[in-house]
Amino acid sequence: MGSVKVQNLVKKYDKATALKGVDLDIKEGEFYALLGPSGCGKTTTMRCIAGFEKPTSGEILIGDKVVNNVPANRRNCGMVFQSYALFPHYNVFENVAYSLNIRDLYSGSMGQRAKTFARLMSRRLSKPTKEIQRKVHDALEYVELGHLAERGVNELSGGQQQRVALARALVMEPSVLLMDEPLSNLDKKLRNTMRTTIRRIQQDLKITTIFVTHDQEEAMSMADHVAVMRDGEIVQMATPTELYSSP
Ligand code: ADP
Ligand code: ADP
Repeated sequence: MGSVKVQNLVKKYDKATALKGVDLDIKEGEFYALLGPSGCGKTTTMRCIAGFEKPTSGEILIGDKVVNNVPANRRNCGMVFQSYALFPHYNVFENVAYSLNIRDLYSGSMGQRAKTFARLMSRRLSKPTKEIQRKVHDALEYVELGHLAERGVNELSGGQQQRVALARALVMEPSVLLMDEPLSNLDKKLRNTMRTTIRRIQQDLKITTIFVTHDQEEAMSMADHVAVMRDGEIVQMATPTELYSSP
């Protein structure tokens, strides 16, 4: 269900070729780091898997389904962006509830969808259903933020904002979790706690996880598999142990 297969993925921009034929074969429940220097194509690879970027050529499969033409909101991928991309005028609860509301936008009758749309367009969300409240609170408890549900996101530290972004991805119960440089905006102490949180979540939920990093130590200490990227291509696939012992 949550396996990810990328076959000969090419992404050309006007002036640059970001991906020159990327292949990945990630089994359900595996924890992968995509490691490489800035500009090698890591983020582009993630954005193609999540559906925010259209590949020039190549195939992306999630489970056994080719998803090239499936819109992002139907791919069942939870994405945590590098800059978190939280909604500044929503509080913590609302930021996490937002994705559940968005999902409602794509289900139900025309009338229900119109109502959901109107609600989303208004500045504050209307009172969420009991089910949404329960799911949001569960997700917030899970990232140890239950006590901050009513806070504005601008009042939170970077590490707390990161946790909100993580809860917002998890509340959708995605089959694949994608994270772009999840530790890069945090100081050293927060990095260590976040590292532990991410590992715990990955092991608890056994969710297929791919995270992008330029930091070799980070990749090796967190992931079970490391895909090393250079200049638009995967140049090595290994476990951390294999990487340690390779010359
Ligand atoms: P990384 O995440 O490894 O830093 P990216 O995937 O962001 O690398 O970028 C790979 C290459 O594609 C870079 O050369 C970058 O300049 C280029 N690129 C990325 N996004 C765009 C875009 N929207 N338009 C043009 N070029 C882009
Ligand atoms: P009940 O119907 O059980 O009394 P409440 O209205 O007290 O539920 O809400 C329970 C929790 O749900 C609150 O603590 C709050 O975090 C969250 N919540 C409910 N409505 C909203 C809303 N419109 N915006 C943000 N959070 C909300």
